[in-house]
Amino acid sequence: MDEEEPQQCVFCHIASGKIPAKKVYEDDRVTVVLDINPATPGHLLVIPKEHVSVMPQMSEDLVAYMGMISKQLSHALIRALKIEGTSIFVANGVAAGQRAPHFLLHIIPRSPNDGVALQLLPGKIDEKTMNEVVAKLAPAVGKQFGVEVKLPKTEKPVKKSEPEAPVKGNLDAIADLLAGGK
Ligand SMILES: [Zn+2]
Repeated sequence: MDEEEPQQCVFCHIASGKIPAKKVYEDDRVTVVLDINPATPGHLLVIPKEHVSVMPQMSEDLVAYMGMISKQLSHALIRALKIEGTSIFVANGVAAGQRAPHFLLHIIPRSPNDGVALQLLPGKIDEKTMNEVVAKLAPAVGKQFGVEVKLPKTEKPVKKSEPEAPVKGNLDAIADLLAGGK
């Protein structure tokens, strides 16, 4: 909040309305506009009105609010644009490809074969490295939540996971939305 002068931040100006944008929603905490270089038509940027660069600077309350907003905007996109899903995306930090100095949450309408390249290519990791990652990470996560984490001495071998199949329940929910239901 102190590292960037909000006076110089384009996204603060978009959020406050000083710079015009194609706005689809606004309340006291966020402004939602169309991305001017959309991955697909209807690509939304959810811009917090408070200047924050990355998620760790945000209050938990605001993070939770962004989650709620994402859900409602996804519903609206699916209903209004007859798309079949949404990708919800945050580039959190320069290493993750973040270019804006202001935290942005992207909601991207998705359809089969829409050419949007957000696939995560499956990498390879061995059992030992996975255990090392868990040993480093789980205590840190516990500390973050204020709980003590006790790791078992030996980890059971992790089953090689199958490629993710579409979850039928989710598809049913989207079909319901398209049909105008809840
Ligand atoms: Zn800003």
